[in-house]
Amino acid sequence: MSTWHEYIEDHGSAPEWPYPILYEKETVIQSDVLVVGGGVAGSHAAIAAAKQGVRVAIAETGNLKRSGSGGVGVDHWHAACTNPCSKVTPLDYTEAVMESMHGYSNGIARYITCKESWDTLLECEEMGVQIRDEDDEFKGAEFRDDETKLMFGYDYQNRHILRIWGHNLKPLLYYEMKRLGVVMCNRIVITSLLTEGGRQGARVVGATGVNMRTGEFVIFQARATIIASGGAGRLFSFAPEMTAAAAMSTMNSAGTGHAIGWNAGAELVLMEQTGPGRLSGYGYAPYSMGNAHNTYHGVSMVDSNGKEVPWVDAYGRELKTIEERFLPARDQKFHLGPGIGISMYAEPYRSSDLARDLPERIRNGEFQLPLYTDMTHLSEMERRCLFGMMIGNEGKTRIPIYDTLTKAGFDPDKDMLQAPVMAPEAYQHSNFWGGPPIPHLRSLSGGGFLVDWNLRTSLEGLYAAGTSPVFGAGCHGESHTMGRYAARKAAAYAKTCAEPVLDRKQVAAEKSRAYQPIRQSKRGAGWKELNHAIARVMQDYCGKYKNEPILQRGLSLLRDLRENEGAAAFAPNPHELGRMLECFSLITLGELVMHASLARKCSNTYLDFHRIDYPQMDPPEWAKHIPLRQEDGKIRMRELPLDFHLRAPYAPAYEENYQAANKQEVLGHA
Ligand SMILES: Cc1cc2nc3c(=O)[nH]c(=O)nc-3n(C[C@H](O)[C@H](O)[C@H](O)COP(=O)(O)OP(=O)(O)OC[C@H]3O[C@@H](n4cnc5c(N)ncnc54)[C@H](O)[C@@H]3O)c2cc1C
Repeated sequence: MSTWHEYIEDHGSAPEWPYPILYEKETVIQSDVLVVGGGVAGSHAAIAAAKQGVRVAIAETGNLKRSGSGGVGVDHWHAACTNPCSKVTPLDYTEAVMESMHGYSNGIARYITCKESWDTLLECEEMGVQIRDEDDEFKGAEFRDDETKLMFGYDYQNRHILRIWGHNLKPLLYYEMKRLGVVMCNRIVITSLLTEGGRQGARVVGATGVNMRTGEFVIFQARATIIASGGAGRLFSFAPEMTAAAAMSTMNSAGTGHAIGWNAGAELVLMEQTGPGRLSGYGYAPYSMGNAHNTYHGVSMVDSNGKEVPWVDAYGRELKTIEERFLPARDQKFHLGPGIGISMYAEPYRSSDLARDLPERIRNGEFQLPLYTDMTHLSEMERRCLFGMMIGNEGKTRIPIYDTLTKAGFDPDKDMLQAPVMAPEAYQHSNFWGGPPIPHLRSLSGGGFLVDWNLRTSLEGLYAAGTSPVFGAGCHGESHTMGRYAARKAAAYAKTCAEPVLDRKQVAAEKSRAYQPIRQSKRGAGWKELNHAIARVMQDYCGKYKNEPILQRGLSLLRDLRENEGAAAFAPNPHELGRMLECFSLITLGELVMHASLARKCSNTYLDFHRIDYPQMDPPEWAKHIPLRQEDGKIRMRELPLDFHLRAPYAPAYEENYQAANKQEVLGHA
């Protein structure tokens, strides 16, 4: 293989486009269930639907063998509350999440996940994922159950988070889809949903997409559709040359699923919630630098004089031993564990962490930068589990971090990992590799489709699954589990619903829109310029602090981008056409976030939401959801109690609702 420079030297010109160009050609794919997005949520959804005996198609922008955030691995599986060693019930866990987030999360998704996460993991084990310490490598360790050989993270007493060997999980899902006859469509970017009669708010009957290699227009006709397209990493920050190893989100993370649902008339909620956005190219390669968070939980951090930074429990009390870092504190119920898509933890459920006043103590000279992760303080088992088993299986770490460091001679028995050098305030959060937080760089947080107990959206025929499409949810195991659950419901619906009928006018209009960028002058902006402009508007006009004029100005700038630069933008090949269409989705999504931000006329601690013109934090009359949808192009909003999932028409108890949804599924009414 030659480098780009060698190729040009040898051939004298850039290579030809390597695929046949098939612009305008239409391909129709019919299925009972269509899955949009093939990360772990979408792939597990496709498997679960196929097991129900229905015809399944899955459309994925990347390649299903490794696509999505979980495509290269996972080391922590959360919410396995029904595993034989867990001391936390699904209800305990769900209530802990809802209490921590003061109701601004998703009780439905949490309860479903806690009920089925362990079963979903067992299914992964059947596919070949290693979930037990089969070779007795860690026999006798505190974090292992010697009978089941399961291994646990964070809270060694309550045992609801499992450590797994997930480096090959995604290819195994791929082979299972293949075995079950799922129609797998790689390199397709889905750009719209199709609705009955072409009407906004009507039943969803399929979707359209563009093949990013050939440019072909693909029409999916489906009885039920599941959106599992992940989040929108490119909305606020865009560093296209650095999104592989150096960022959490994939380049395909463009919020298309949210945007097409919004355009089809579905209700979305919590879209005003954004969080610090340290991702997409502005941090360091995930888990590459010294830190004490997530996979590195429990390690010692030392300063440049070798002085150790204290660990504290949930209540800020200093811990004396390393073992205590992995156990609930006195008076504490259990650790929920980081990385589950919530932005704050109530004390009874919060994990131990580095001293919270670390920034101040760095500033006053008590600790001298740089800081280092020193694994030598850990027990031998703990050290081998961290730098070996976990860094060998966690997403994006096996090759870039574990292999690279090991081959370069790094030895955790004696070497230390340096943390990034940052301003003292940046050491407030122990996830140091994320880099210093940049105030105007935000990222989507809890927003997504409003779903019912079947994970159905407000539109008939449309379901949601995974981190981000389902509001208030988020982690690896949760994504699989929601995919598996939503698929059963979608399949049950597909078995009894009427034939889906496409509206040719709607298809033709979308086809014309989709090909617009190939018809423009070559002088038009490219997708990267457009994406940069969108991200800049979002940073400036929808950053941490907002008010009505700023948001209105942001909306008008996004409209300008769509109508001017966007309308004249040029795509020279099918790949860039796909990326350009994602940019149009990003504009739509940005508008949705701004509309949702305008709708919440107060500031809110739990949503990290700050209106300069409404500075009062958490006024009780605003303790509610404000779902938004479109009807005939007009925005409609309503109010919904935070505990809507336990109010009529639902039952007042989680288990009752879960059982009722399962009963509906058996009867085919999901
Ligand atoms: C480095 C890293 C480490 C992590 N470690 C852990 C961990 O240890 N434990 C844990 O619980 N979580 C972890 N996570 C988070 C976890 O991986 C995610 O929560 C989970 O993988 C989300 O899965 P998903 O399928 O919902 O979404 P995604 O993985 O985002 O998948 C969405 C898919 O949809 C595709 N797509 C998007 N738009 C379109 C479109 N328009 N048309 C077609 N396809 C589309 C994308 O290409 C993508 O493949 C980690 C994440 C990263 C990045």
